[in-house]
Amino acid sequence: MITYRKKPTERSEKRDNMFPFPAIRPGQKEMLEDVREIINVGGTLIAHAPTGIGKTAAALAPALEYAVKNDKIVFFLTSKQSQHKIVIDTLKLIKNKKNVDFTAIDIISKQAMCPRGIAKEYYAVFNELCKIGQKTGECSYARNYNKDVTHYITENILHVEELKDICTSMGACPHKTASNAIANAHVAVCDYNYVFSDILETILDKTNRSLSDMILIIDEAHNLPDRIRNHLSRELSVNALREAAREVKSANAHVENKIIHNHLTKIIRSFNEFAKDVSGDEHNIEKRVIVNSINKVLSESLDPTDYDTFANTLKDASARIAENSEDGASYVMNVAEFLAGWNTDLPCSRVFSSSPPAFSLKLLDPSLISRDIIAGVHAAVMMSGTLYPTGMYADILGAKKKKTMLREYE
Ligand code: SF4
Repeated sequence: MITYRKKPTERSEKRDNMFPFPAIRPGQKEMLEDVREIINVGGTLIAHAPTGIGKTAAALAPALEYAVKNDKIVFFLTSKQSQHKIVIDTLKLIKNKKNVDFTAIDIISKQAMCPRGIAKEYYAVFNELCKIGQKTGECSYARNYNKDVTHYITENILHVEELKDICTSMGACPHKTASNAIANAHVAVCDYNYVFSDILETILDKTNRSLSDMILIIDEAHNLPDRIRNHLSRELSVNALREAAREVKSANAHVENKIIHNHLTKIIRSFNEFAKDVSGDEHNIEKRVIVNSINKVLSESLDPTDYDTFANTLKDASARIAENSEDGASYVMNVAEFLAGWNTDLPCSRVFSSSPPAFSLKLLDPSLISRDIIAGVHAAVMMSGTLYPTGMYADILGAKKKKTMLREYE
């Protein structure tokens, strides 16, 4: 429950205006009023606002006012961890100056918050090892739910490094503690990926909230289209396949490793054959060309399998290989991720480059991911000093024209 320390008239006034500074600049005032309006009516604001105007406070104050009063959660999304600091500092200022209680959680990737040595592994291998550690009970941090530390991080607004240190010193997993705390938070400060990737589903499940409970503030939003495209982009070279085969071979003589090594060797051979048959530097190729070629190789093997099963086998084997090989398993995981990504039904460009031989996959239209999210949240504020022309960004990200406010501030 939210508690206020001031008498009723004063506290409602504080909740109605959470702007924490004594003076407001002209462009900042205009932006704050637009943010307040779009959040009140629901929709998207695309704000081109120069550096120095005070965008963070102009967006955060009205969003927080609405979230506290209407039981919503503000997701303040950034493209870099370095941008979290100003957001957390502004939230601390609001809490102190306005004397209003609210909960804010600063969170980064699980890997960057993990206190264990496995955090040094390739991220996808790390994810597998983390899952195994939780399942088997090998990770003591995951087992240790600490009520006191959860209480502390919800009562105090902390930078993620402070949060990580406190959780680690109390023997609790920093990421798990922080993500559980988001369930009752008014603000979460995190990376774009928390909303514009499959992490969103986990977050909604964990927080027991729906998209319409979210108010998004997307900082440096000119980066968002490329971040969405890159998140679904993959590349696989014949060299990377060779490295994956080497990792498997150096792991141990596990019978499954021998089979995987055999399959990888055959795929390398078939890709080399493919490279010999094409002329020129770059070619667009269809999804089925690679899928069929790999399926053929795998089905003719002494231990027959198929494309999807092999991709899953590689993923599952990567943690075991990483634990048994001095070379880790980053290439094995890279192959697994490429195979899974290549098979997507989303419209992507698929290219083969001959020198060095490599296949690449890139999502063409970021709005395929962003459109439904932007339409589904309560309100979204996208802001940047280079979000111009604003209408172009609305189109690229699939914001509905009728519900979108385009603004440029000075
Ligand atoms: S559960 Fe937490 S502490 Fe354990 S491996 Fe995963 S991220 Fe690290």
